[in-house]
Amino acid sequence: MSETLIEKLTKTCDLSDDELLKILNTDKYDNELYAAADKVRREHYGNKVYIRGLIEFTNYCKNDCYYCGIRRSNLKASRYRLSKDQILSCCEEGYTLGYRTFVLQGGEDPYFGDDIICDIVSSIRARFFDCAITLSIGEKSYESYKRYFDSGANRYLLRHETADNAHYRKLHPQPLSLDNRKRCLFDLKKIGYQVGSGFMVGSPFQAVENLIADLRFLQELEPDMIGIGPYITHKQTPFSGFENGSFKLALRMISILRLMFPYALIPSTTALGTIDKFGRESGLKAGANVVMPNLSPTSVRKKYELYENKICTGEESAQCKSCLEMRVKSAGYEIVTDIGNVRR
Ligand code: SAH
Repeated sequence: MSETLIEKLTKTCDLSDDELLKILNTDKYDNELYAAADKVRREHYGNKVYIRGLIEFTNYCKNDCYYCGIRRSNLKASRYRLSKDQILSCCEEGYTLGYRTFVLQGGEDPYFGDDIICDIVSSIRARFFDCAITLSIGEKSYESYKRYFDSGANRYLLRHETADNAHYRKLHPQPLSLDNRKRCLFDLKKIGYQVGSGFMVGSPFQAVENLIADLRFLQELEPDMIGIGPYITHKQTPFSGFENGSFKLALRMISILRLMFPYALIPSTTALGTIDKFGRESGLKAGANVVMPNLSPTSVRKKYELYENKICTGEESAQCKSCLEMRVKSAGYEIVTDIGNVRR
């Protein structure tokens, strides 16, 4: 019997564009895909799921990305910033709950200049020396990234969002550019960060071919972490009239990513959990191996509204963790609290 496309993808970690299109354009391979991805994930990471504590420390942003609820032009967004003390309390609480990775994510907020970021990072580093510090604060210069790294940050998340130039332009106004986004990612790698990239599935104007470009770009970048999730619309953006991305296609992409990048850390994202009640469980079964519970103070959680109906905005951090622990277990996996470095 001849080899199936999924078998070929599993064996070679690659397929031609035409073959990828065949898989992407139908749901008939889905069950075979999920099973193959789960097998590969278990070979590399067993049934382990890593947890990262997400601290959304500012929703001010100087950018105006058309899809994002905290874009500069959304005058209805209620803006907040956490103080250094508040951020450290989040880490403290997270540490007690067993987190060994803190992800500081925010809009590109000019208030947090390099000196302030370095001060926050080095304070976290001094107190939680056995933890990974992940930053996700957008596009900066090589020198700024280097300073954060020297202060103790060791991972960085920056989704490329789409690897097609024309599509990038439809999602982002000037002066943002795909070239600069890519430059940032390669700078981060060069400095020595563990780098995460990724994209939205089903963002406005996205064609299936764009997703193939995303996969090709990731093959070039070889990131340690790959975060994807369905696009979810937000009323206070120019894209309010657009449909949400497809849940099924997002799961299919997670499986393809697992087979192409067996070693990668792939989160089952909040966006997946928002678009489907059991989205995160399904993401894990499709090959994801990371979850990122929220550690932000409950008082600000609703305000970090990248898209509508975002889940987990009401619970305390401890509740968030136990809820996820239960979900992960019900999917057949187990949360572990170690630092969770990539296994190349
Ligand atoms: N300012 C940082 C953090 C961005 S928020 C940066 O530039 O990297 C994290 C991710 O949320 C984004 O990279 C984007 O992929 C995703 N996101 C933003 N708006 C979204 C939406 N409407 N639906 C789904 N995901 C969205």
